[in-house]
Amino acid sequence: MKKSPKDLVREEVLALTAYHVGEAAGMLKLDAMENPYALPQELRSEIADLAAGAALNRYPDPQAPELKQRLRQTMAIPAAFDILLGNGSDELIQIMLQALARPGAVVLAPDPTFVMYRMDALINRMRYVGVPLEPDFTLDCTRFLAAIEEHQPALTFIAYPNNPTGNLFPEADVLRILDAAPGLVVLDEAYHAFAQKSFMQRLAEHPNLVVMRTLSKIGMAGLRLGYAAGSPEWMREFDKVRAPYNVNVLTQLVAERLLAHADVLAEQAAEIRGERGRLKAELERERGVTVFASDANFLLVRVPDAGRVFAGMKQRGVLVKNLHGSHPLLAQCLRITVGTAEENTQCLAALRASL
Ligand code: PMP
Repeated sequence: MKKSPKDLVREEVLALTAYHVGEAAGMLKLDAMENPYALPQELRSEIADLAAGAALNRYPDPQAPELKQRLRQTMAIPAAFDILLGNGSDELIQIMLQALARPGAVVLAPDPTFVMYRMDALINRMRYVGVPLEPDFTLDCTRFLAAIEEHQPALTFIAYPNNPTGNLFPEADVLRILDAAPGLVVLDEAYHAFAQKSFMQRLAEHPNLVVMRTLSKIGMAGLRLGYAAGSPEWMREFDKVRAPYNVNVLTQLVAERLLAHADVLAEQAAEIRGERGRLKAELERERGVTVFASDANFLLVRVPDAGRVFAGMKQRGVLVKNLHGSHPLLAQCLRITVGTAEENTQCLAALRASL
């Protein structure tokens, strides 16, 4: 008798639901915090030349020294700290959890937050503790510190700013968490370009801090590159868990080249920050719509009937993320990625017509 997946797959995995990505063909895609701008033509040509000359028959350099050097310069990563690269920061989350997954180890994070922290912790048989945010998604720091005291987490994740709420927790609270946490604290700065606040320059003050970022939100989601900076002691261990060729040849070449044009990326991020303000102001004028504070490239909004608004917007060709049902605090909430000026105008019209 052959066994079925149910007989063989680990219970933790059987109990999970796969990360859901909505069908987006032909839609205005405002559901995944992507950068909406196309690259300038000269840059596209440079990329075409790079791809044409790439040694695709060879494995990539597992250390990606040129790319790391470029990241260090562009992102001001202090010299004393090592860089770990991942196939998106998604993979870095997996790597760090896998390395820390001793039996009984706890992973702690605010709740709601980025769903992959929980999913990867459970896959690794770790205990996941989510500390509820306030109904307006601010951090109850006293409660969070009490949870640290009680659960003694091996790893604490703080998304800075948080996803899906968009807000940035106060710097003073993060410092208190860094002081109190007995284990590793990963500050996930995926939305750093839109918040312009970072703990990168404070690595030396906190030996158990890792600062993690991604290129996904600044125009390179398709390349899949995440990076984390931390002390050589931590990074040496994580590097053992990493698959040696996890960042492919094309990603290494193209990311390095695009980072050399950081001015273009910075300009796009500035546009998005400006559009975020306009979109927020326009949404706030709508009756029945609550817009939460955001330092990211998306806005969390509460509408009277999220299911209806989501479906109405979709019917009008605009895809956003419906968070209703994903968490009690997110009742009737939608998450809207900030697009180009024209896209945001189209999004606003679709939302107004669907309210
Ligand atoms: N961290 C946060 C807070 C995110 O919101 C996301 C993507 N939505 C990621 C990490 C993963 O991004 P990527 O794998 O594209 O680097």
